[in-house]
Amino acid sequence: MNIIVLFGPPGSGKGTQAEILAEKFQLKHVSTGDLFRYNMKNNTPLGIEAKSYMDKGSLVPDELTTEMLKDELKRNSEQKGFILDGYPRTTSQAQALDSLLEELFQTTVKVTIALNVEDETLVHRIKKRSIDSGRSDDADENIIRNRIKEYYDKTAVVSQYYIDQEKFVDIEGEGNREEITAILSDVLVKWI
Ligand code: ADP
Repeated sequence: MNIIVLFGPPGSGKGTQAEILAEKFQLKHVSTGDLFRYNMKNNTPLGIEAKSYMDKGSLVPDELTTEMLKDELKRNSEQKGFILDGYPRTTSQAQALDSLLEELFQTTVKVTIALNVEDETLVHRIKKRSIDSGRSDDADENIIRNRIKEYYDKTAVVSQYYIDQEKFVDIEGEGNREEITAILSDVLVKWI
């Protein structure tokens, strides 16, 4: 089973690229942000709890997030592989991911690909997309900057976890959409 992690700060294009790559490589796209938003829209207990964190641009606690991810992977166990977008976001989530991949599928992450984008580009892109996304965490610059801060405080360090396992590839995330898709596709062809 192919497990691919797309990694990078908010606004780096993970979601857009994950969707394209999922179709191209027949992987199931799993976005923890989308799963939280689905739960919020449906007012589930998980959604109500997650909302208080997401509205501030903070990470949702690891345990809640991991439980939700596990349910989603279990529900899709017939898939040939997954492209994870927005998980893991802490080292503890990276460890939890390894345990649950072993438990559910006796497998592990194949490769983690990071998209590198400058902070000011991130803020600009997120503000621009807020018109279409309708996301309240996209519309407010303070919340956007807090999400970027959470990334540097808690998420950036996760790259070391995968560098140590020699399954980390860093790519430039600043080109146009098609260029980035082409670069990502080349990486995937080599790894899966
Ligand atoms: P972005 O990458 O643009 O921030 P996402 O949709 O991936 O957008 O995430 C939106 C929000 O959902 C995050 O700010 C956070 O509150 C929550 N979230 C998503 N994934 C995780 C995760 N793995 N751990 C904790 N919180 C998460």
